[in-house]
Order: sequence, then C-alpha cells, then structure tokens
Amino acid sequence: MNHPSRLASPPLPSADMALLERYVKMILAAPVYDLAICTPLQAAPALSQRLGNQILLKREDLQPTFSFKIRGAYNRLAQLTPEQKQRGVITASAGNHAQGVALAARELGIKATIVMPASTPELKVLGVQSRDAEAILHGESFPFALAHALSLAQHTGSTFVSPFDDPHVIAGQGTVAMEILRQHPGPLDAIFVPVGGGGLIAGIAAYVKYLQPQIRIVGVESEHSNCLQQALAAGERVVLPAVGTFADGVAVAQIGEHGFQICRHHVDQVISVSNDQLCAAIKDIYDDTRSITEPSGALAVAGIKQYVAQGGISGQTLVAIDSGANINFDSLRHVAERAALSSIPA
Ligand SMILES: *Cc1c(COP(=O)(O)O)cnc(C)c1O
Repeated sequence: MNHPSRLASPPLPSADMALLERYVKMILAAPVYDLAICTPLQAAPALSQRLGNQILLKREDLQPTFSFKIRGAYNRLAQLTPEQKQRGVITASAGNHAQGVALAARELGIKATIVMPASTPELKVLGVQSRDAEAILHGESFPFALAHALSLAQHTGSTFVSPFDDPHVIAGQGTVAMEILRQHPGPLDAIFVPVGGGGLIAGIAAYVKYLQPQIRIVGVESEHSNCLQQALAAGERVVLPAVGTFADGVAVAQIGEHGFQICRHHVDQVISVSNDQLCAAIKDIYDDTRSITEPSGALAVAGIKQYVAQGGISGQTLVAIDSGANINFDSLRHVAERAALSSIPA
C-alpha cells in the first residue's frame, strides 16, 4: 500500500465525541436547502487518468452566488430570534461571504449591511447591492472594514455574522460533507478541503470523523495564508504578519477559534500550494468540466496533485471541494499565462 503511514486512531475521548455529535446534529438540522442546492459530486476523468487515482469534484462553484458560503450564511440567519431578525445583520467581507449574507438576508426578509474595504471592485459592490443589501465602503483593507462592522453592530444592535468563526456557520458548511457521504456510499480515501478561516473544513471534519473516521481529511491552504498549518505547528492560533491575496477567498490571517477546536484533533494533514499551482489547477478543472473556478476554488485540486506526487499515491478515491467561481474575467489572462508556465516540467 502506498498510503502514507498513519497511527491507528485511538478511541476518541467522550468530551470530544460529544462536540462532534453536537455538530452532526446541527448539520442534519440545517435548513440550507431553502436556498442552497445539493451540488453534483462529479468525476474528473482526464485528471483521474493522469494522476492514477479516481478524482471526484464536489461542485460548490454551482451554488447560487457561486460558492458554498450561502450554506453557512443561510443557516446562521435562519437561527436568529424574531427580535434579532427585526434588528438586522451586519458583516464585513469583500467576497463570497458578502454575497451569501446578502442573498440569505433577502430570502428571510432581514435587513443586511455589508462593510467592504474602500478598494473593493465595483463588481462585488454591485453584487451586494443587487441583492438589496446595503454596502458601506470603509477602510483601506479588511481589518479596518471588520472593526467598523463590529462597532456598527454594537451601536445598532444588529447581529454580526462571522464568515467562519461561528458554530451555525460551521454547521451550514458541514452540509457539504453530508451530501458527499450520501452521494458516494462506496469507500473514500480522502477529502481535500480549501482552508481560509476554517469554517468549511471544521464542518466537514466534524461530520466525517463522527461517522467515517477512516476517511482522511486534508486541508489545503495557499502558502501565502497558511494560518491553519502554522497554528497546528505552534499548538495555538497564530496571527500571520502578512497575507497574500491572489486566492482572495482564503486570505485570512488567523484560523477561527471554533474551527480550530475541531481541526486540531480531526484534520489529518494540511498541505500548502503556490499561486502557480493554483493557476495550473484552474486549467485542470476547466479541462474536465469546462468551468472556470476562482483561485481559492482550485486549492483542493492543487493539493491532490501535490499529495499524489509526493506520496506516490495510486488507486485511491479522492474528493476535492471545488469551492467557488467568483473570478474577475480580467484576471483570466494572468491565470492562463501562469498555468502555461507551470506546466513546463522543471
Ligand atoms: C470562504 C472560502 C473558502 C474558505 O472557507 P473557510 O471557511 O474560510 O475556511 C474557500 N474557497 C472559497 C471559494 C471561499 O469563498
């Protein structure tokens, strides 16, 4: 067997099992299908053949708003009390979470305010406004927008909705794992999950490790925002001094507190990849699906390629979460150029 060695998992301490069980119950009860769809788990034949493993893509790029973020946002908003719904919600985001909160709020008849950094591209501001949410442009970068959103929440009594550090958000994202296990009842060797603030991987790990602990959960980070890898190495959540933004969906400086509680025990491995590897993976996904993903959306496929190459893995069934498709059309030229360069053997 070419499988990388792994110690047999000791039985879980019961407190830990109780935490996973709480998440599994929240995942099973999450009403995400009011708005989200059950996305296809689709074979990638060309990539599978090239890598000598069966590669399956979980097509979260096909969600309304073109990323899985709608799951967590909707589940969080659906859990608000009537009084909280009345007072509205606020968040800070320039990306997929903003679109998710805006759409979920409109669906539930809740007023939403999204604080975005002043530099946010007009396309994304319009994406929020067209879903009837209020966009406030504030601050030169994300931390300033976030601080403003938190202070507005305090002054107005509206509820702040975190993009990842919230149990209901994590549970909403965890519905992805519920679908995968139902869609593929046969054996799975590993699920590769892109990591930003860790909400998606925490939800997936909680569900999978409770029900099928033998399936490996592998996190994939950009090497320019590897906050989970560094937190696991340090044994505590660290704040990265700088974060690269090419993979803007995962440009997060610190892993979430709730997510880390799960990830530190239930993520088997974390891989980090370069921007050029992401560009090459965008092309791989295009070749098999004729769909274009954003850089963060291609992290898991880039991670699988590295995992297979470094571990000499063959004959396994590996799932990649294809997490999003929100890429500016203008950046495709850059992606295509880098993908061409990185396909030249070193
Ligand atoms: C938010 C996001 C991620 C990372 O999710 P986290 O819960 O922050 O780890 C990955 N891919 C895309 C496209 C995203 O929008």
